[in-house]
Formats: sequence, C-alpha cells, structure tokens
Amino acid sequence: MNATSQKETMGFQSEAKQLLHLMIHSLYSNKEIFLRELISNAADAIDKLRFTALSHPELIEDDADYSIRIDIDDKARTVSITDNGIGMSRESAIEHLGTIAKSGTADFLKNLTGDQYKDAQLIGQFGVGFYSSFIVADRVVVESRAADLPAEQAVRWSSVGDAEFDVETITRQARGTTVTLHLKVEEKEFADSWRLRTIVKKYADHVSVPVIMKSEPISDDDQDAEPGDEVVNTAKALWTRSRSEITDDEYKEFYKHVAHDFTDPMTWSHNRVEGKLDYTSLIYVPARAPFDLWQREAPKGLKLYVQRVFIMDEAEQFLPLYLRFVKGVIDSNDLSLNVSREILQKDPAIESMRSALTKRVLDTLEKLASNEPESYQKFWDEFGQVMKEGPAEDHANKEKIAGLLRFATTASNGRVQNQSLSDYIGRMKEGQDKIFYVAAENYNTAANSPHLEVFKKKGIEVILLHDRIDEWLMSHLAEFDGKSFQDVARGNLDLGDLEDEEEKAQQEKVGKDFSNLIKRLSDTLGDDVEEVRVTHRLTDSPACLVINEDDMGVQMRRILEASGQKLPDGNKRIFEINPTHPLVAKLNGETDEGRFKDLAMILYDQAMLAEGSQLDEPASFVHRLNKLLMEMAP
Ligand code: ADP
Ligand code: MG
Repeated sequence: MNATSQKETMGFQSEAKQLLHLMIHSLYSNKEIFLRELISNAADAIDKLRFTALSHPELIEDDADYSIRIDIDDKARTVSITDNGIGMSRESAIEHLGTIAKSGTADFLKNLTGDQYKDAQLIGQFGVGFYSSFIVADRVVVESRAADLPAEQAVRWSSVGDAEFDVETITRQARGTTVTLHLKVEEKEFADSWRLRTIVKKYADHVSVPVIMKSEPISDDDQDAEPGDEVVNTAKALWTRSRSEITDDEYKEFYKHVAHDFTDPMTWSHNRVEGKLDYTSLIYVPARAPFDLWQREAPKGLKLYVQRVFIMDEAEQFLPLYLRFVKGVIDSNDLSLNVSREILQKDPAIESMRSALTKRVLDTLEKLASNEPESYQKFWDEFGQVMKEGPAEDHANKEKIAGLLRFATTASNGRVQNQSLSDYIGRMKEGQDKIFYVAAENYNTAANSPHLEVFKKKGIEVILLHDRIDEWLMSHLAEFDGKSFQDVARGNLDLGDLEDEEEKAQQEKVGKDFSNLIKRLSDTLGDDVEEVRVTHRLTDSPACLVINEDDMGVQMRRILEASGQKLPDGNKRIFEINPTHPLVAKLNGETDEGRFKDLAMILYDQAMLAEGSQLDEPASFVHRLNKLLMEMAP
C-alpha cells in the first residue's frame, strides 16, 4: 500500500464548513430536495462523460447504457444513488466535495443573519448541491471511479458532516459514482421505495437519463418473485417535448437543475426554431439575483446541446452581457458535435441565434411587464441594475430596452423605481416635448435638488436618477418614443412652450435689474465659476450650480475618479442666482464689500452642498456662516 492509498482525514475549507452547517439547520422543512440535488449531479456527470466520449470513445468501455440507479436498504437505513458518468479521481473528490470554488462565497456567507428563515432564502440563492445530503444523512459515503482511471485508482470519500472528511483510494470496477446516505434515525421514511419514487417523479422527471429503481412486488403472493428494474422517470430531455405536454411544475424543476437554483423561476420561454437555422431554446428568467451577480467570474450563459448531446455549460456567446442573469438551454441541430468556444466566437450562425435569443428574452420581459406588472416589478428590483447596462451594449435594441427601464420620479412618491418611460410620457404636460431628469448620488439628494423647483411649481414630472450607473445610462439614451432626454441641471433652462409670453418678458426685465450684481459676483467668485447668471429654475433656493450641455456629469466624474481614472480638470460650473429670493435681493443691496464676499461665498458653497458635492474648504464655510449668525444674534 502506498502512502496516498492510506486513509487520510482532511478538514473542510472553512466556507464549506459554514455552508454545511447552514444547510443542515435551515433546510429541514424541505428535506426531500437532497434527492433532486444528487440526481442532478449524477445527470451532469453522465452529460460530461457523453461529451468527453465524443473524442474518447474508449471511455465508454462496455457500459454504454447511461443510467442513474437508486437502491434502498431499509434495514441498514441507507439510500444510494449510482451513476455511470464521468466519475471523480481522488483529487477531484477532495476538491469538489471539500471546498467551494465559487468566487464571492466568503462575502456571501458574511451576509448570513442567523435567522433560519432568511438564511434558507439566501442559501437558495447560492445553490444547494451535494451538501444537501447532510439534511437527511448523518454519514455520507461517496465511492467513485473516474472514467479515465483504472479500477485501482478509485476513491472513497466519507464524512459525518462536521468539520472533516476522510478519503482513501479503493478498487472499484464500475465507472462513475455511488453516493450512499446513512439516514438519520428520524429520517428513516426516506428508505421507502414509494416515497422515493414520488420524489423522483416530482423533482427529476425531466432528467434525460433513466432513473432506475427495483420494482415493487405487486401483491403479497409476489413476494418471492425476483424483483425487476423499473424506469421511474420519463427520461426524455424536457425541451424536446412539446410545450403543451409540459406542466409548469416540470418547467420549474428543470430550471432548478439547469440553474443550480433553489427557487422557482420568474418566467420562461420555450421555442423551436426551424428554417435556415434549426434549434430549440428554453430560457428562464430567475426570480432572484444570484449572490454572485456582480462577480466578474460568475457563471453566465446557457447550457449548449447539439442534437441532444450536452456540449458545454456557460456558453456565453448566445446572449449579451446585460442579460447574463438568463439561464437555460439551447439545443442546435446545425452546429457540429465538436464545436468549441473558439468556433462559437467565429461562427456567423451564432450571431443570428444570439440576436434572435436576445429579442426573445426582451419579448418575454415585455410580456411579463404588461401581463404581470407586479412580477415585473420584482424582476426589476432584482435585475434592474444589470438591465441598465443594456442601452450601452446593445444599440440595436436600445428602444426596446428603454421601454423596460423603471425609474423613480417626482410623481411616484418614494425611491422605488417603478415608473416606465411610457408612463412618464403619458403624464407629460401640454407643450412638453422633453423627458426631464435629475441625477444625484442618492435618492434624497435627487429628490431635494434645487433644480426641481420650477418643475414642482409648474407640476412637471422629473425622473429622479440615483443609481451609480444612471448618468452613464443616460449618456447612451438620446431619446425614447421620439422624445429627447434633458438633464435639468445642464445648460440653459429652456422650458419652451411650458412658459408663457408674460413669464418670458418678466424674466428679461429682471435680468437687466441684476446686471450689476452679476458683475460683482463674477469678480468675487473669480476662477471658481465659468459664468454667473440669473435663473428662473429656482423658487425656494437662492442659487444653484449648472453644467454645460456637453460637460461630463457630476456623478459620472465622481465614479470615474473613484475608480482611479485620471481625468482632465473638470470644466467650470455656471453659478445661477434666483432673482426672486430675499437673500439675493439683500446681496444686491449690500454695500459692505466684506459682507458681500461672505454672503456670496456662502451661497456658492450651499449650491455645492445641495448637489451632494464636497466643499474645498468646509472650515471656511462654517466660519463664514457663524459670522453671519452672530450678526443676527441680539
Ligand atoms: P454543483 O452541482 O452546483 O457544481 P454540487 O455541490 O452539487 O455543486 O457538486 C459539487 C461538485 O462535485 C460537482 O460540480 C462535481 O464536480 C462533483 N460531483 C458531485 N456529484 C458528482 C457525481 N455524481 N459524479 C461526478 N462528480 C460529481
Ligand atoms: Mg449539483
């Protein structure tokens, strides 16, 4: 016996240990899913062998009938699940069953609350997998021989689900894997053939390989008869069946297998395309964002099959990045069985499948939005941030994506993003030809922006943008439904037909009355501002800052700077004053140069604060303000 065949005891990676613990304690209300997870893994292992055997047919040996077996020993209280798939080597058993390779796991685990209900929800987001065995078993033994290794290099992995597991090298003739669960006493109900059959039917009917169990004796007289084998599931790839034959539950269970998700999907679309290209797609929109949605290396893309043969997971070429949350399968009849990622990147047929699938997803979302607005709102809350990447990435579908966007607006009360652009347009005032928006670092700053004052006065709705990505999003959206977008903090306020002649004449006259003040302010603020001018966009605030039409937005600049980019100095801002405000009137009449300067600087700093910017010299601001307050004191 050489050293590595010795039994070796190893510790679970600390993340794996935490997950295991969590699994055992938070999923006991849904115990039976362990079987779904184990069958799902067995089916994946068979898919992988089938694919590898395309180029290495010798791996099939004389065992070409792929199947998953479930055996029960009610006396020993064990259930075992056996597949003749790709199997595991000693190293891969240690790696796959002892560690969690998913990036971001540590962060995910930090989010756990200790509240079992909430944690159970979170764990679903993570995907449950092999460790779910320990919900019902107090000891799990995995024996496996990898398809490309000899019988003497098989492995036995076992654990009681605490901190450690054992591995040893064993001899095993059969290719593939047997997972044996030693059921806890209180879970002995699972050592029952009828119970397990029901679970297989419920959770694994869609699995394309046969799930085989010993047939039950029909009557007592039959007891002595040697029981035969029986296929318990339909054993036909779900997507090859016709839509009308598939129940919603079957679609949902298949989703869980494909997506390694625990929760039901939000919606799906199943289509057969014939003609120049011949393929079937079954795409799902998940109900919840996975924990690693924002991890660069997180799995994305569809499961690719060619003529029913599994080819690869995470085929990314079929969907754009902003739809990376979509899960599902695509089964092509045109692609070659030895298609590779490199070929996928170059094949022009993939390009047209990609645009058809993209459209299919967007259509599915449109349908959800119009038929089930509440579900769509949930979808938006989960994935809206990702959808906002769409207009920049996918020019061809810009208008369609814009129609799916949801925003908070001044008409929508609160920060919830639940207004569509069509909703907004439907409420536009007579004479309004633009879609107005304001962008700030957070909702409160946006909602209280001085730039909104005139819009409030006139009852004109403004979109309140407060996500990091928003200003960038808007830079890619020129218009929607023929209406252009206008940032209310940019350029000269031109309300067009929303202002009447009288207002315009009045403004012109006021402008002249303040020409002297404008000059004094320009001299005082000097290099800080590009221009000082009178504005009519304010009602309550004395002053505000505006950027030029073509300058980079304040939010965008902040984000880029925070990400470490070197930017050219920002263009100077325009300082606008409100001629109807008493403070401005006071300033106009101020003859003391010192006091004039203090007041002017305070107004300028206030305008900076109102847009959420940092002051260059906050201490000077405080000092000036206190000086003024002191003068007020009796
Ligand atoms: P996932 O299926 O999401 O990858 P699991 O926890 O279910 O996560 O399984 C972890 C890994 O263990 C699998 O990715 C696979 O590499 C390996 N594995 C589990 N079961 C089997 C099996 N029956 N045959 C081969 N490998 C398996
Ligand atoms: Mg799994």
